[in-house]
Amino acid sequence: MVKHMNTLPVIEQFISLDGEGPTAGELAYFVRFNDCNLRCAWCDTVYSWDGSSPVTHKTPQELYNEIKISGVKNVTLTGGEPLIQHNILPLLQLLAEDDTLCVHIETNGAVDIAPFRTACPAENIHYILDYKLPASGMGQHMCMNNPKVVTGTDVYKFVIASEEDLQRALDVIAQYALDTRCQVFLSPVRELIDPLVIVDAMKERCMNNVRLQLQLHKILWPKEMRGV
Ligand code: SF4
Repeated sequence: MVKHMNTLPVIEQFISLDGEGPTAGELAYFVRFNDCNLRCAWCDTVYSWDGSSPVTHKTPQELYNEIKISGVKNVTLTGGEPLIQHNILPLLQLLAEDDTLCVHIETNGAVDIAPFRTACPAENIHYILDYKLPASGMGQHMCMNNPKVVTGTDVYKFVIASEEDLQRALDVIAQYALDTRCQVFLSPVRELIDPLVIVDAMKERCMNNVRLQLQLHKILWPKEMRGV
């Protein structure tokens, strides 16, 4: 335990395309952390929390150095859940000091981002919040302070697997006026819902600041492939 006191548990580090964020289609340096506080029905990274993957413990400085050596400017911290990691704040502070980097924290919406934003209010740190809808089975765990504290460079992403999911997403967007306060992405699970159903809903409501986003990784690579 003492040995890992100043480190973060890493499952994977790799360079790939950013699949779903505001820099979708650009290269990003991914760091995937071990463990998650949720258990979504459709989780596609079970290996990040089920104990099946080897964990490498790295200090924030080691991770920062490796990101810099890569030369890639977009950094995506993902999981699992990055914000439950004991030493995530020192890493965020290091990344925040380097304004040549654009950092996206992919978080599951169940952790309050406000304390992290207060402790590390840098302009190059952005939160990509995944609002868990009914089909995930985790909707009741959403932190409802988050929709109140997001800003224009943050993203609320809704992964939609059913018409019930779509309705819930529309309700949350309307209730918190999310489309006026942050970027909003609607991302269909294509095997379960026709993306055109979402397009129709956007047209019906004239949703100007909402974007349909297809899951690029699922188009480019097989579902089970890691490190992409
Ligand atoms: S929050 Fe993400 S990593 Fe955690 S169970 Fe859900 S999909 Fe999987």
